[in-house]
Amino acid sequence: MIKVKNVWKIYGKGEAKTIALKNINLEIEKGEFVMIMGPSGCGKSTLLNILGLLDVPTKGAVHYKGRKTSSMSENERAVFRRKIGGFVFQQFHLIKTLTALENVELPMMLDEKDKRYRRRKAKKLLKMVGLEKRINHYPHQLSGGQQQRVAIARALANDPKIIFADEPTGNLDSKSGEVVMNILKELNEKGITIIMVTHEQELTRYASKIVKLKDGEIVEIVEK
Ligand code: ADP
Ligand code: ADP
Repeated sequence: MIKVKNVWKIYGKGEAKTIALKNINLEIEKGEFVMIMGPSGCGKSTLLNILGLLDVPTKGAVHYKGRKTSSMSENERAVFRRKIGGFVFQQFHLIKTLTALENVELPMMLDEKDKRYRRRKAKKLLKMVGLEKRINHYPHQLSGGQQQRVAIARALANDPKIIFADEPTGNLDSKSGEVVMNILKELNEKGITIIMVTHEQELTRYASKIVKLKDGEIVEIVEK
């Protein structure tokens, strides 16, 4: 489904130059639960952002189902990105002035879906993550774990084939983290591909493939 070929990412120039990724080669198939692991600063987020088309490589190519993404225009890439993937971040990134329900409805506004459809779907997604009693709460009225579940519901709004998650449990206590991981696991069992960044060794039990990075290079790929 995704093929990364000889990808390099270099930030800055001269003295300030950082080689974040060095010649990355990776293939991800539909239905996998991929974990990108490694120490802080090794390039995990950079690789995730390139896989999710939020960022572009300095050199090399990313193919989606055989299509070369670098030949897409910025606009085409944005449309494609919305269609294929949903994103979940460590900091939740919910909009503070909107309720849980409104946050989940938001991505659907960009489509032509009518209001009733959006509302019904947002409610269904919030129910799926166990928040049917919290739909009218604002982010500050929710715990970290609940906010992350809203963020997952939002990521699902456009029926993505892939969930990209950057340290989704990084700000959560272990119990809420487990709730979030179990939701990701259920989604994976329904056929959604999960690509997740973490440095938490104990989460590898959820993965079907572990990509270990060090200093911008893949040092090992473990298939389970
Ligand atoms: P990780 O997610 O493993 O912590 P990152 O992908 O965030 O690593 O960063 C990899 C390296 O690239 C680090 O040295 C980081 O400081 C650098 N880096 C990341 N993003 C940028 C950026 N936008 N500009 C300059 N350097 C960056
Ligand atoms: P996380 O640890 O959650 O991945 P980071 O703090 O590493 O987040 O990075 C947050 C944002 O800052 C990212 O968009 C990343 O690209 C950017 N960033 C990281 N390192 C640098 C850097 N050295 N210079 C500029 N931007 C950076």
